Amino acid sequence: MTVPRSIEVAIVGGGFTGAAVAYHLAHLRPGISIAVFEPRAVLGGGLAYDDHDPAHRINVPATRMSLVPQDENHFARWLEESGAASDDPGISGRDGALYPKRSVFGRYVASHLDPLLATRRVHHVRSRVLSIAAEGGRWTLATDAGSRISARIAALATTHPPPDVPHALAPLMSDPRLVRDALVPGALADIARDARVVILGTGLTMADVVASLDRQGHRGPITALSRRGLRSRGHAKLQVEPFGEFTAPPPRASALLRKVRRTIREAAARGLSWHTVLDALRAQAQTFWPLLAREEQSRIVRHLRVYWDVHRFRIAPQVEDVLDRRIAEGTLAIKAASVLEAGAEHDHLKLVVRNRRGGGQDTILADHVVVTTGPAHAKILSTQPYLAGLAAGGLVRADHLGLGIACDGESRALDVRGAPQETLFVAGPLARARFGELMGLPQVSAHAVAVAQRIARDVELAETRVRDVAAAK
Ligand SMILES: Cc1cc2nc3c(=O)[nH]c(=O)nc-3n(C[C@H](O)[C@H](O)[C@H](O)COP(=O)(O)OP(=O)(O)OC[C@H]3O[C@@H](n4cnc5c(N)ncnc54)[C@H](O)[C@@H]3O)c2cc1C
Repeated sequence: MTVPRSIEVAIVGGGFTGAAVAYHLAHLRPGISIAVFEPRAVLGGGLAYDDHDPAHRINVPATRMSLVPQDENHFARWLEESGAASDDPGISGRDGALYPKRSVFGRYVASHLDPLLATRRVHHVRSRVLSIAAEGGRWTLATDAGSRISARIAALATTHPPPDVPHALAPLMSDPRLVRDALVPGALADIARDARVVILGTGLTMADVVASLDRQGHRGPITALSRRGLRSRGHAKLQVEPFGEFTAPPPRASALLRKVRRTIREAAARGLSWHTVLDALRAQAQTFWPLLAREEQSRIVRHLRVYWDVHRFRIAPQVEDVLDRRIAEGTLAIKAASVLEAGAEHDHLKLVVRNRRGGGQDTILADHVVVTTGPAHAKILSTQPYLAGLAAGGLVRADHLGLGIACDGESRALDVRGAPQETLFVAGPLARARFGELMGLPQVSAHAVAVAQRIARDVELAETRVRDVAAAK
């Protein structure tokens, strides 16, 4: 279907964020033209949910993953009504909550975009944006399919770049036994049953890799390494309400940390686990984060982020079971160590690592090395030609924490002088330096609603201006 050459709103990236902004905007302003630029076949999946490995499950219960944040059970209901829950015998975690496959969540989001696409209230431009230029008060988007589309408003939602390969692995860069990005479909397909595997990174992507290898029949030894060797924690035995009050934060990172520890002790005294406190912190982060001074935000990102990440990004019970079993069988070891050197021999790869505890060195031989260190958000502006172009023109800049793109409290991108761009928005996790916690689906979903509401207001104002001018003639 042809897409108009001139539209009102262009959304760059049609993963969960871009699809959610389009969905809410189309419902708030049914008459306006919206195009989502996304090379993938379907909208709503993106890196996380356009994932067809059945070993990969959402890592929070289905009741917390809603496209419609004001209706928490929206996805859980869809699971029942669509039959997706009854089609998956492994869907229940041992806490009794539902953890469907990630692809199922993608299908759920896509199914809500489909009617909007069919009625042309939203257009899917199935191509990659190569450049965005400011021309005559509008944005011109050029794509790899050779099209040029003009939009009055643009929202940037191309969140996850590939991971950065650690410098020490430079000698392996052209070796096919190095898997540079574990999230590329089929990346693990060549790993044989008994292969020795080293995984760099010990977070959720490491867990996904172990689950995928296990599912494809791999039984060889796996060593997972990260500087601190911290593994993502599991869910509480029982799902309970968040506990703690953090909306008026102590002014310093150290005092905030003391307050969190104190609240965890208070929770324990009431028989509640630390999970409830971290859940409260996460839910309230968007309120307290902007109140912290920038140096304190930097201190938190520098010193506490690694601990925050492993407690806040929890592992699905089904995936946790695989990790626990592999550890018990002696085929998975998680180590706190850094890679010093890497080399390739004819029949193996060799890594020299420095152990964090004790400081000694070890040599590890492997058949494959898999990088799971996470998307390189700090380099986001150089990972995409269109972002590099906007940055070169002074229209966007990296945020002060190396987490994404600088924006204001209304999600308007800040230009190089720090001035907000009235018609250029940053949607989803790339805006998280401004909002604090903005990576998990519940917060990303709420942010998509806020961006859609902000754009809808802008559209309404523009329409009123046009009407006023017409009436004055
Ligand atoms: C592997 C993974 C699993 C996760 N699992 C969970 C979970 O279970 N629960 C939870 O709460 N959170 C989870 N998250 C966190 C969160 O839900 C995601 O980060 C969120 O979905 C981000 O989606 P997005 O649309 O902002 O970004 P992305 O998923 O990165 O989507 C961006 C889209 O932009 C497209 N794109 C890129 N460049 C261009 C371009 N130049 N032109 C046009 N399109 C372009 C890409 O094809 C992609 O589809 C997970 C994150 C990851 C990475």
